[in-house]
Amino acid sequence: MNKSIKIKPHHFIDIITSFSADKLLLKPHYYKHEVHSVSKAILENRDLVLQIDLGADNICKPCLHNIEGICDDTLDISNRPKVPSLKREWNLILDKRWCKRLKIEQGDRISVLDFCERLINGSNNLLEIYKENNKENTFQREINLKKGLQNYITSSIVYAEEIEN
Ligand code: SF4
Repeated sequence: MNKSIKIKPHHFIDIITSFSADKLLLKPHYYKHEVHSVSKAILENRDLVLQIDLGADNICKPCLHNIEGICDDTLDISNRPKVPSLKREWNLILDKRWCKRLKIEQGDRISVLDFCERLINGSNNLLEIYKENNKENTFQREINLKKGLQNYITSSIVYAEEIEN
């Protein structure tokens, strides 16, 4: 059986969006989460199995803000008054919207390519998902998601890694 990774839908989608970069640099984050290593695993194995998890996923596991499975991080909502200030509440809103759109649910196991195929059909009108965010930023997010998807599907991503000191 293929290796599997527990992942929140929006974490996977953010990673695919990051693949739009002309020069992708994978580097550890000061939160100590696993975005860089999960990104690498996705780049190296398109058959990787994703297990949909709306709670603390493999990215959250070593994060400084993961307190016994609960994210304690907060958001700056000064320009987004309708967004909850607790990141875990906002994440759940986004993940539920993505699940509904992509017809996935907690515990589903799907390959990276299967998720990407759903995203090809589900990456339009992101204003519906991120309706509380700034519109221009959301338009740019949609452009980047489509470009990242295209780059991933056509294997045209060149990336570099920065190792933690
Ligand atoms: S959702 Fe919270 S716990 Fe998970 S990686 Fe982000 S900040 Fe860390």
